[in-house]
Amino acid sequence: MKTLDCQLAYTPFLGRLASAPDRILLLDYDGTLAPFHIDRDRAVPYPEVRPLLARIRAEGTRVILISGRPPYDLAALSGIEPRPEIWGSHGFERLKADGSYESDVLSRQHQTGLALAVKLLESEGMEPRVEVKPAGVAIHVRGLSRSDAEEVIEKVRRLWFPLLSEFPLTLFEFDGGLEIRVPGRDKGFAVRTILAESLPEAAIAYLGDDRTDEDAFRALSGKGLTVLVRPEYRPTAAEVWLRPPQELIRFLEEWLHASGGEL
Ligand SMILES: [Mg+2]
Repeated sequence: MKTLDCQLAYTPFLGRLASAPDRILLLDYDGTLAPFHIDRDRAVPYPEVRPLLARIRAEGTRVILISGRPPYDLAALSGIEPRPEIWGSHGFERLKADGSYESDVLSRQHQTGLALAVKLLESEGMEPRVEVKPAGVAIHVRGLSRSDAEEVIEKVRRLWFPLLSEFPLTLFEFDGGLEIRVPGRDKGFAVRTILAESLPEAAIAYLGDDRTDEDAFRALSGKGLTVLVRPEYRPTAAEVWLRPPQELIRFLEEWLHASGGEL
């Protein structure tokens, strides 16, 4: 795969934007719209992102954020106004643009398993790195050296491993940590749901950086444009690779232009 400057893999897609009956832009947040920050509560979008998204939306594109963060937290942190639709907790929660909220109810088994996962980390004094989510528990290793991060992840993997045979939970590693969670919901689920609710002729793109975005890339494969946004290339199911922030900004500008907006 080549970078944006060397290829125009998405040019035909941008051509379709002008005439598409619907335009839908699906966006991961951390690492895609916002650079990583050691303090994850201070990860804000690149300066150009908010105004560009506002103009893209004004030209008729539906913008939807799909993240591992809880949706209300992400609404506040991202500062994108008016609040767009947000899928949070990797597809487990959905906060629609009209303010309505949906999420699944956890079974007793899931609740017990996740509570034990938290206890195991607390017994090792790891609370500051723990994030309890509606459908999972994450350990964050941002800010640690590579070797320390690997050590923490390995340790937590060993602590949680027995839970996987006892409870219907699954483990997955993301950039900056490890999460134990309820299976069946992921970013691919969010994309499939949005596709099912959309016109088949809609022009849809998904931009993401993380391993959890691969589920979304696969769900959209053949039905829309998939874009890996990441400083370094890695093997991916996405069709196009953009290096943030410059190539990301250029992509958003081209989206705006293709949908009739002035640059
Ligand atoms: Mg990300």
